[in-house]
Parts: sequence; C-alpha cells; structure tokens
Amino acid sequence: MRIAVYPGSFDPIHRGHEDIAQRAAALFDKVVVAIYARPSKVLLFSVEERVSLVRTVLADYPNIEVRPYAGLTVALARELGARTLVRGLRVISDFEREYQMALTNQQLAPEIDTICLMTSYEYAFVSASIVKEVFMAGGDVSSLVHPVVLDALERKRAAMQ
Ligand code: ADP
Repeated sequence: MRIAVYPGSFDPIHRGHEDIAQRAAALFDKVVVAIYARPSKVLLFSVEERVSLVRTVLADYPNIEVRPYAGLTVALARELGARTLVRGLRVISDFEREYQMALTNQQLAPEIDTICLMTSYEYAFVSASIVKEVFMAGGDVSSLVHPVVLDALERKRAAMQ
C-alpha cells in the first residue's frame, strides 16, 4: 500500500490545499493529511478546529485520512509506514523553503521522499494568510474556501468583535 503524508498548518484549509490533497489521493492508495499542532506562526484556529474543518471538507475522499500531529513530520511518516511527503508549490518563492525542508527531512529520514505538486493555475495566489487577511478586512473569500470554512471564519470574526 502506497501511503503519502500531506503535512501543513491548514489554518484554515482553502481551495489550494483541497486541490493538492485531491490530486495526491489520485496518486496514492492512502493520503494522510497531517495537521501540525504547533507551527511557529500565529494561528487563528485551534488544532481541533483545523482537523475538524479538513475532515469535513475532504469527507468525500475515502482514501484521505486526517489527523493532528506534533513533533517531526518524518517521525509521523515512519509511524504510518509512509514513504512519501507531499507538498504544494505555488510560486518560485515557495521553492526555496520547500527545498530546504525536503533536504532536511532527507537527512533525518533518507528512506522518505518529498514530492511537490504544482498548484493549479487558479489557486496560485491563494494562501491561508491571504484568506484570513482579506476576510477579516471584510472581503469576499467565498470562492477561495469551502462553505464550512466560511462559516467557521464568520464565527471567529463574530467572537472577536
Ligand atoms: P505550512 O505552514 O507547512 O507551510 P500550509 O498549511 O501553509 O502549511 O500549507 C501546506 C502545504 O500546502 C504547503 O506545501 C503549501 O505550499 C501548500 N499550499 C498552500 N497553498 C497552496 C496553493 N494555493 N496551491 C498549492 N499548494 C498550496
């Protein structure tokens, strides 16, 4: 069974993430979307909220599993028996960071490979931080996120006011 791990913060999941997860699901027998519990960035959603949103958004894909994790991504991959990490590339500026991370992970776990899927053209500009910034400033992000994510953003905004 070919298992891939698609790790990230997913704060929150948007259409660009969905696109990569769906395409990975067509390439592997099983894809585990792994939600990093404590990334070194300011988060809007708790890990439980992020996991729940990703589960709902990707519910139609029987070979996609969603779980939180802490610690090393390669440790999780080993635990799951996965030999591949999937990441998405949007713009050239993503490349440097992804390359650095892939080489670091290769040092830590030489048996695990990273593959990067290129973003679909229409999502090249979408990032979780853009979604949050535009939404909080009153902009329409309904074409960038699943309706359940839009609801969750609305609840967050209401709670902050
Ligand atoms: P991280 O905090 O690890 O960068 P993110 O949740 O921001 O996690 O993103 C997870 C992965 O999804 C990363 O590989 C990122 O490059 C990719 N990704 C994010 N947005 C897009 C997009 N619009 N198109 C393709 N890949 C994307």
